Amino acid sequence: MQYALAVDIGGTKATVATIDTTFNILARREISTGSALDLESVLEAATNEVIDSTSGELLGVGIGSAGPLDVTAGTISPVNIPSWRPFKVVDFFSALTKSENVVLHGDGMSVADAEHQLGAGRGSKNMLGMVVSTGVGGGLVLNGKLISGESGNVSFFGHHSINHTGITCICGRVGCVEVYASGPSMVRRAHELGWRNDKDDFITLAESARNADPLAIKAIDEGAHALAVGIINVAAIADLELVVIGGGVSQAGDIYWQPLLRHIAAESKDISFLRGLKIKKAELLRDAGLLGAALGVLSPQD
Ligand SMILES: [Zn+2]
Repeated sequence: MQYALAVDIGGTKATVATIDTTFNILARREISTGSALDLESVLEAATNEVIDSTSGELLGVGIGSAGPLDVTAGTISPVNIPSWRPFKVVDFFSALTKSENVVLHGDGMSVADAEHQLGAGRGSKNMLGMVVSTGVGGGLVLNGKLISGESGNVSFFGHHSINHTGITCICGRVGCVEVYASGPSMVRRAHELGWRNDKDDFITLAESARNADPLAIKAIDEGAHALAVGIINVAAIADLELVVIGGGVSQAGDIYWQPLLRHIAAESKDISFLRGLKIKKAELLRDAGLLGAALGVLSPQD
């Protein structure tokens, strides 16, 4: 049996998995990237565990990482992992697995690839695939092809600004989509509005909104509006037919989707070529990042 090692590096956790050529996940380990421990050692141990528990031939390593990254240098500098500035992730996995075939993509790009080839975007030509959770990311497929860009950072979606006089983002820019539209950003906004709850996460905020708390409803509405502005910016720039949205926030149900769809309709109403723009929920959910990372090896483009 042949398989790929897939590596999905996010802001709060990293997952490594072995995945066969029909996209079955054979073994997986998850580590916290926020831990104070030596991250490289933890990542190495997790990788060795999944490879040791999988028999067959390793075809290569596909990595999807939070950005920014430099595909040419094979390095990543995830915004939420300050100790990696930069981290030579391609060399690291090449040495660890003794494989020359190590493909690095942005995490948004990996998710877009997975949804395009295996999920809600099958058959579409021009789509944005997105993740909205603790961060906001995305990747673009244009003319049926996954776009990488000059350095691999195409559609660094969460960090395009929608308000140049707004809130300063962790990335250093002002008014990024992510500082309004991510789950923690909506919780922060709810606190500013006076919302109080014992638990402090987006799931609780969404529950509160479902129970008709006006402050929770307003915070979610504002976050959904920010995302809608970002989506229509990109949809108009790239003339898209489809946006696929995944990630924890998108799974909150109607309490999030209804305001999001309303704001997308309002933001696009004066752009005639976007009238047919379709918005779909992601199908692959929590495995999209891993499957997309594996696609870098199992279905290489270019
Ligand atoms: Zn930013």
